[in-house]
Amino acid sequence: MAQSFDRPITFPDIPGYQTLKVDLHMHTVFSDGSVWPDIRVREAVRDGLDAIAMTDHIEYQPHEADIPHPDRNRSYEIAVELAARLDSNLMVIRGSEITRSMPPGHSNAVFLDDVNPMIQDEPLDVFREAARQNAFTFWNHPMWLGQRKDGVAVLTDMHRDLIAQGLLQGIEVVNMHDYSAEALQIALDNDLTIIGTSDIHSLIQWEFEHDHNGHRPITLVFTTDRSQEGLHRALMAGRTVVWFRNMLVGRDEYLVPLIESSLTLESAAYAGERSVLEIVVHNASDVNYILRSESGYTFHQNSDVVMVKPNGNTTLHLKTLEQLEEVVIPFTVLNAVNAPDRHPVFVLDVAVN
Ligand code: ZN
Repeated sequence: MAQSFDRPITFPDIPGYQTLKVDLHMHTVFSDGSVWPDIRVREAVRDGLDAIAMTDHIEYQPHEADIPHPDRNRSYEIAVELAARLDSNLMVIRGSEITRSMPPGHSNAVFLDDVNPMIQDEPLDVFREAARQNAFTFWNHPMWLGQRKDGVAVLTDMHRDLIAQGLLQGIEVVNMHDYSAEALQIALDNDLTIIGTSDIHSLIQWEFEHDHNGHRPITLVFTTDRSQEGLHRALMAGRTVVWFRNMLVGRDEYLVPLIESSLTLESAAYAGERSVLEIVVHNASDVNYILRSESGYTFHQNSDVVMVKPNGNTTLHLKTLEQLEEVVIPFTVLNAVNAPDRHPVFVLDVAVN
């Protein structure tokens, strides 16, 4: 039997915005990745992504002896050509990774016009060139153990300067397998866009265990239109939520509408004279929601913590003690964070059928 590796990631749109699934950090043989750029495009199509950015290292090219490439736009050009030929909806964004020791560490500049002028001696000049090209620039893996022994993201004076000069607009709160609460706090304190990326060097399917329901970390970007311009505007405006393992990370402003668009009431009814309300909740997303009821009522088949399975219906049995016409259930969404160790509240307004 033929096996399909297609596993489109699913999220609903939110009021006023389209939800685009985006991965803004990846590598090919044109820097230290193990694959030709076409693989990055095919992986993204299988994952149902809306956009990827090709972000090979500028300053680090271990395969240079075998694959000399004076033109740093090549991985993007090969990828964009294939995406067009596949007739996919995938947008390919031209980018590059600025690869420096700390500070400033590594950063990605995406939506570049030309990667070649990004080759500069002084790190500050690279950021200035990115800004001159109107790029969206974000700090990569500030928690990376390769540059921070303690895994703690710390804002340096150089980063403060970059932010103050408008040269840095985002920060990876999730990179590959790592999440940083400290990076999330830095994003909130400095009005930076919250980003999560795969930083894939090998194969998505291996690295993120597709065979065991894994998925790459992505950034959900809320756009007014489905175009690179729309995406760029939304990223600059900080309209993102990160999807990592079974966790959502973002500001309440976008996180709560995403949860509300994901979870909707399918039906609610009492069986005969019983006062146990059967509530069917539909989940239109890939998230296995873990909700803690704050309603004061107890459930007939659960403790105060319930799970609402992805892409389907889940029935909750709420003991309301008498038959009610309406119940309002506030839930703490335990697998979503809007600040370090803080969870958003989702209110399910249940009108009984
Ligand atoms: Zn990288």
